[in-house]
Amino acid sequence: MRYVSTREKAPACTLDQALVAGLAPDGGLYVPQTLPRFQLADFNGCNDVASVSARLLAPFFAGSSLQSSLNDICAEALDIPAPLRELEVEHAWLLELFHGPSAAFKDFGARFLARALARLREKSAPVRTILVATSGDTGAAVAAAFHRVGGFRVLILYPDGRVSARQAQQLGCFGDNVQALCVQGNFDDCQQLVKRALNDSKLCAQVPMSSANSISLGRLLPQMGYFAHAALSHRREHERAAGFIIPTGNLGNALACLLARHCGLPIGDVVLATNANPTLTEYFDGGEYTPRASIATLANAMDVGAPSNFERLRWLLPHPQRMREAVSAVRVDDDAIRATIRASHSRYGSVVCPHTATALHAMEQMRARPNDAANDWICAATAHPAKFDDIIEPLIGKPVESPPALAALLHRPSEAKPIRADYSALCAQLLP
Ligand SMILES: *Cc1c(COP(=O)(O)O)cnc(C)c1O
Repeated sequence: MRYVSTREKAPACTLDQALVAGLAPDGGLYVPQTLPRFQLADFNGCNDVASVSARLLAPFFAGSSLQSSLNDICAEALDIPAPLRELEVEHAWLLELFHGPSAAFKDFGARFLARALARLREKSAPVRTILVATSGDTGAAVAAAFHRVGGFRVLILYPDGRVSARQAQQLGCFGDNVQALCVQGNFDDCQQLVKRALNDSKLCAQVPMSSANSISLGRLLPQMGYFAHAALSHRREHERAAGFIIPTGNLGNALACLLARHCGLPIGDVVLATNANPTLTEYFDGGEYTPRASIATLANAMDVGAPSNFERLRWLLPHPQRMREAVSAVRVDDDAIRATIRASHSRYGSVVCPHTATALHAMEQMRARPNDAANDWICAATAHPAKFDDIIEPLIGKPVESPPALAALLHRPSEAKPIRADYSALCAQLLP
């Protein structure tokens, strides 16, 4: 399998090159040159996320130096439970993607990327720095995935005072080869600093660096696996395809679901649930695609005004009208998020995080359409509610219990180095 750029102005390359490069040299995003097509029977005997993923990703790894280790990478990285939890209403399930070490779905992609990059690394190569800007969940997933992996160092930049107390604690508690930098600025400042460093060829010659952001193929590809597994489990049990509703920010998770559908997995309608940031819903309502600055919401991991994977969505569904038929988008503001968190306990028997609440609210919108009552919906539950206790507890009036992995992190000492939002301050941290 070869990989090409969405902007079509870069040479085709191998998966190995695309994984290490991140962005294509023409500024576009890498996509597979063709998509494989599967039948249901191809997955006979594949009963967990790791084995479904290994089967599904095999054609994407054809010709890669990682081909022979794909099964091992999947077994090591994707051994996180992803249960389908039936809600207390008809025809509705949560796909719980928050049982990994950082309690958000990003663990699947980050762990897969870490295992893949570790295998691509030559023994004698100098230490590679993974540089990430985070508004909360990405940093913790990447830190957990690369923690104590030989040959790698992780530097996380997060905006001072803009992440939840628990997120800050998580980011600073790893130690060893992971360092958190608390930037005196906002998320855009963090992202600018990371971009500038990754594009600084003189600096990169001294300090080998990679990014681990949501455009990375090493995160995107494995995210198909849990959607495929959930779709197959549902199809096997109920003999019909479910639709999926996905809390969406940079479009990485939803795009993985759409890719799985294109590969022939039994997936019905796909709905993007966004927070108050209107870029995607405006477009799906027939408007222009207008990227802009993000606005802050309760679902902070989805605070995105310029979804970085939109170029890949356009590549997958180039015809605007067809795209709008194949996918829909529902915008959910903070009031609706609060109301859904409050009501979901009584209505669905489930305490959900603010991101997951956008999907449940979108499901209610879909249900209100004529003839929707018998459709099966699976809502992706993208983070554990305990990560957002400060938002949820006042709404539901009782404590949210932390899962063991999160509780363990919350008990470790945590340390972040404050730095100015200034390039020379970052360089001082990067250079030996
Ligand atoms: C990152 C994140 C999202 C958004 O996922 P995208 O792939 O950026 O669309 C949704 N929910 C949670 C909890 C997240 O951490």
